[in-house]
Amino acid sequence: MGEEIHMIRIADRKQCCGCSACAAICPADAIKMKPDGMGFRYPVVDRDKCIECGRCEKVCAFNDHYDRSLHLEAPVTYAARAEDPEELARSQSGGVSYLLMKRVLQAGGIVYGAGFVDHFRVAHKRAEDLEQAQEFRLSKYVQSDPGQTFRQTLADLKSGRNVLFTGTPCQTAGLHAFVGPKYRERLWLQDIVCHGVPAPNVWRDYLSFRERKAGRAATELLFRDPACGWHTHRETVRFGKARVTSGDYSRLYHKALMSRPSCGVCPYANLHRPSDLTCGDCWGIESVDKNFAGDGLAASLILVNTRKGENLFSQVLPEMQVLPVNIDRLLQLNLCRPTPPAAESEAFEREYLNGGFESIRKEFMVPTLKERFAAWKWRVKRSEIGKRFLSTLQGFPFRSLFLKKKRG
Ligand SMILES: Cc1cc2nc3c(=O)[nH]c(=O)nc-3n(C[C@H](O)[C@H](O)[C@H](O)COP(=O)(O)OP(=O)(O)OC[C@H]3O[C@@H](n4cnc5c(N)ncnc54)[C@H](O)[C@@H]3O)c2cc1C
Ligand code: SF4
Ligand code: SF4
Ligand code: SF4
Repeated sequence: MGEEIHMIRIADRKQCCGCSACAAICPADAIKMKPDGMGFRYPVVDRDKCIECGRCEKVCAFNDHYDRSLHLEAPVTYAARAEDPEELARSQSGGVSYLLMKRVLQAGGIVYGAGFVDHFRVAHKRAEDLEQAQEFRLSKYVQSDPGQTFRQTLADLKSGRNVLFTGTPCQTAGLHAFVGPKYRERLWLQDIVCHGVPAPNVWRDYLSFRERKAGRAATELLFRDPACGWHTHRETVRFGKARVTSGDYSRLYHKALMSRPSCGVCPYANLHRPSDLTCGDCWGIESVDKNFAGDGLAASLILVNTRKGENLFSQVLPEMQVLPVNIDRLLQLNLCRPTPPAAESEAFEREYLNGGFESIRKEFMVPTLKERFAAWKWRVKRSEIGKRFLSTLQGFPFRSLFLKKKRG
């Protein structure tokens, strides 16, 4: 964007994750983060204001040569969950991210995380106490707008406060590059295992669609409703006492139809993390330790990447159940490589930009037969009649009948 040599230029949008570090560092306030048609923000330089200092280019950390001077040789890995069942139920997986925030706040620090602004627009926010930090719990499956939080974080650090910043790895890498080594001692970074972030405008339009259907404004939302079970990915929109639970938006997310282009070439989809700690869902824990997995209890996968991370993690140990794990047995896709964009993602974007939400809803949101069957099976399993039917089947001696027949 622009032809000057010393200012940031986005020749290929895949090369920009939208972290906003370049805009935050610009001494002339010449960079604005502007949304494209999908709602993904990119830096745009006002060339009249630019003094060609080159700082925006230098700070960009969307690459694999970020500062690893504090890193352990290899991450130390755990399965973990909050000991308190009530705390556990209010978080997305094991609730470790929230426990880390709680610890930092109790020690007088500040935390940053993904919350809501305006009408359920996802954005990063600052919290000074536990009440404000509640909002950061639960995963919001849409790209969070960092807004002014990088500059706020630096101001907090300069004023002597300890800060924990939670977010996607590209956000923590960007913040780290922006803050620099001088204040790193007081800054803790926690990222998530990241599948990719969906387009903010598709999310906005999906919510409007649900509200139009319900004839009223949403009062609460859960991108991945914990009440549906930890392994299930379905969104719930609440309208006062009424609620609509569906898998329509989640399906688009899982298929990577609306991810930011940079997510397909993400340099952080591996075990070299740009943060002190990494939290993810501990998928596969039941095949590693049945006892720890319990009866489908949520669990986090934790990667301790630095000594600082180790120190903070050790402070929340008394509030958790923890199991050291061999990461080789729990490697999920996004710890090995980025999620490739869906084959139809370009068609999806074209359709959305030309025909709007209704157009992609009709073409891409309609579930396939297989998806309908899976949703039906899920509903049966959860209904009281279904549960009774399945438990009767469990007691039925299919195996001995089959063997008798064979012998006969
Ligand atoms: C877009 C997205 C993709 C993900 N992909 C995977 C994956 O492929 N594999 C996997 O194992 N886990 C993935 N996760 C992480 C997982 O869902 C949990 O968020 C994580 O395990 C933390 O759980 P918790 O119970 O400790 O967090 P909680 O205590 O519930 O706190 C939630 C944490 O997530 C952060 N957060 C929520 N939404 C966003 C957002 N939009 N952008 C940045 N940070 C956010 C909050 O700031 C907070 O730190 C993803 C999360 C998101 C938001
Ligand atoms: S070169 Fe310097 S002044 Fe110009 S946009 Fe980049 S940071 Fe701002
Ligand atoms: S990745 Fe971040 S720092 Fe780099 S150009 Fe994009 S917004 Fe700016
Ligand atoms: S997949 Fe990578 S680029 Fe995309 S949001 Fe996650 S960390 Fe950022």
